[in-house]
Amino acid sequence: MKDVVCSFCGARKDQVELMVSGLNAHICNKCIEQTWRILNEERKPKNSGQPVFKLIKPADMKKHLDEYIIGQEKAKKVLSVAVYNHYKRLMQKQSKDGVSIEKSNIIMVGETGTGKTLLAKTMAKILQVPFCIADATVITEAGYVGEDVETILTRLLQAADYDKESAEMGIVYIDEIDKIARKSDNPSITRDVSGEGVQQALLKLLEGSVVNVPPQGGRKHPEQKMIAVNTENILFICGGAFDGIQKRVASRLNTRPVGFVGENEKDKEVDSENLLQYVSSQDLKAFGLIPELIGRLPVVAHLNPLSKDALRQILTQPKNSIIKQYIKLFEMEEIEVKFTEEALGFIVDKAVEFSLGARGLRSICEAIMLEPMYDLPSDDSVKELTIDYEFVKEQFENAVDAHKLRVA
Ligand code: ADP
Repeated sequence: MKDVVCSFCGARKDQVELMVSGLNAHICNKCIEQTWRILNEERKPKNSGQPVFKLIKPADMKKHLDEYIIGQEKAKKVLSVAVYNHYKRLMQKQSKDGVSIEKSNIIMVGETGTGKTLLAKTMAKILQVPFCIADATVITEAGYVGEDVETILTRLLQAADYDKESAEMGIVYIDEIDKIARKSDNPSITRDVSGEGVQQALLKLLEGSVVNVPPQGGRKHPEQKMIAVNTENILFICGGAFDGIQKRVASRLNTRPVGFVGENEKDKEVDSENLLQYVSSQDLKAFGLIPELIGRLPVVAHLNPLSKDALRQILTQPKNSIIKQYIKLFEMEEIEVKFTEEALGFIVDKAVEFSLGARGLRSICEAIMLEPMYDLPSDDSVKELTIDYEFVKEQFENAVDAHKLRVA
């Protein structure tokens, strides 16, 4: 019998993964994939010069965010406005009156696990724009071990399925921005160039420039053809815990020259329990971010520490809350699972006790739910399951004893 070859590229059956045969022709998997890409390209709505994204009014955006994020009212407001203005700016045609709206990247300050990443991610989801998360600590200056700053954009391109135009309107979240701060406010005393170099590298992205991006990332593929990405319309949101910045905030608030304090302001009480709410660009500079970078991050938002109440709500209220996810998982086994109030209270208490915050809620729940998730799929007799205080306590203690839960 004659060799079966792809009627499109001529490859033999043994050279490809899959060959599909029709009446008088064959097609290999590679040609199918390529045709599929061409088809998708053709089907894309022809760009009429109008950017494609959903413009959502600040109040509507906040309502959407409320469904997923508990508390953090101020941060949600600040971000909703900033994002609205950012995308309005994109819609602005060449203005005749010379007024051009400047890009406003955002910086969020708040303890870990208070919802910074969740906020950025949720917003990108609502806007339906490509989104990626990058970690500032793995970025290094070109030539050093680590990742070049351009690889951040590789991830954004990947998130956009290599659609350059849509990546150029995406959102990038840069985590742990505080970790690349210069150690001293005064560069002439202790010069800590390492952090500063990375800040300079980031500045290039934030400012809005055309950057050559390796589509596969890294330096392992020197032969790859670079893609030129314009960062002008990419919204950068940075986040960090800025441990210890409270001290800077406090000293700024206390050392304000008396003459500056207005009569009314004098009476205003400073909430010393939550100093982050007063954080300003000045404090970020004192912490060690270079002024040029701060200049490119004009919107400063703070996130509040999560109270017990907030943690309790996080467990059950958001649209895809942890508890709702377990209920769904068991529903798929046709088991109705219920959590008692006391059980939920225990989970929250442990998260607080071990300073695990919202991040800890999931690991505690995972440890507690391991046994039922293991046993019940093989047990058809169980149709209902109530997770109560005693059960939760026992499972939690077992997990701690078995070192399954890192509590420190
Ligand atoms: P951060 O970036 O501030 O360190 P994350 O956004 O990654 O924290 O939060 C970690 C997890 O904790 C999230 O996936 C989410 O489940 C939960 N979480 C934190 N804060 C909130 C919040 N305010 N509302 C709802 N869930 C939250």
